[in-house]
Amino acid sequence: MSLWEKNIRQVAPYVPGEQPNQPDMVKLNTNENPYPPAPRVAELAASFPADTLRLYPDPTCSTLVEALAKRYQVGADQVFVGVGSDDVLATAFMTFFNGTEPIVFPDITYSFYDVWADLFRIPYRKLALDDAFHINPRDYDAPNGGVIFPNPNAPTGIQEKKEVLEDILQHNQDVIVIIDEAYIDFAEETSALQLLGKYENLLVVQTFSKSRSMAGMRIGFAIGSSKLIKAMQDVKYSYNSYTMNAASLYMGAAAVEDEAYFQETVEKIRQTREEAKMRLAELGFTFPDSQTNFLFAAPSRIDAKELFEQLRARNIYVRYFNQPRTCDYLRITIGTPEEMERLYQAIAEIQR
Ligand code: PMP
Repeated sequence: MSLWEKNIRQVAPYVPGEQPNQPDMVKLNTNENPYPPAPRVAELAASFPADTLRLYPDPTCSTLVEALAKRYQVGADQVFVGVGSDDVLATAFMTFFNGTEPIVFPDITYSFYDVWADLFRIPYRKLALDDAFHINPRDYDAPNGGVIFPNPNAPTGIQEKKEVLEDILQHNQDVIVIIDEAYIDFAEETSALQLLGKYENLLVVQTFSKSRSMAGMRIGFAIGSSKLIKAMQDVKYSYNSYTMNAASLYMGAAAVEDEAYFQETVEKIRQTREEAKMRLAELGFTFPDSQTNFLFAAPSRIDAKELFEQLRARNIYVRYFNQPRTCDYLRITIGTPEEMERLYQAIAEIQR
């Protein structure tokens, strides 16, 4: 080994779902939205003034921040935007998790959390979900360096009730609590944004990648007290002032402004999800009650990995996590009714 190699950072990176581009594929593996973004986004894309790209984008991201502040009825100083919620969450980890106690999160959750913790050298402890994949709030009572969990959770799809969130917040007032709401728009219970007035240490993170059909644009945001947002901005300006490109700022704002289209798209996905619960149950699957745009479903007539591979061979992509507590499940994104029909047919054929 050369001497210089000793100074190279060794990290075990997050592994994103594959992005195949096959003709006629059914892509249900990365929780994208099967419907296009709001129509105004396509109009803006077609008429985007390319000459403005010579200039740096607005470092304060005000067009997008103000659209979000209006939509969520908070001050512009309570909104932070970033390059997907991954960027927002990474910034939040850097900003808020600097104590000596380990931060805590569920053992089955978004697998990026331990990657960021390792990258930023943050100690962490994983707290086991119960057998039904629920959080036991009592586990979160011990001293810690911060709390993060998604609600609804991924990949289980389960949403914890507001009482559980409040219980965790009540017992963790000396650290920052981050609730990752990537899937909240598909859920029955309302957002933790309602709790912001009560807890200055709460940060809620959401994304345009799922309910707003803009995964390719990379837009995420956090809403919290102005103190938390100011601290995140100071960190952002310490490594890259221009995180958001000009096109994302304009198209993102346009997407937020079309509330009717947003509601309509989310409702279609919810309906397809409820139908999927019935159809997959008929095919012998069991699953927790998903409040997201995916189902975490265990087949009973075939091994999960085998089914994953056989679906893949038929150009149908779902996600499989080969970990001890998740290896009997497939995570299936909710697609259009037509895509889901192809999935059901394929499963029926494979299981025959
Ligand atoms: N949080 C959770 C729970 C997720 O599942 C995802 C999607 N991979 C993200 C955050 C990140 O999404 P994005 O960076 O596209 O906003």
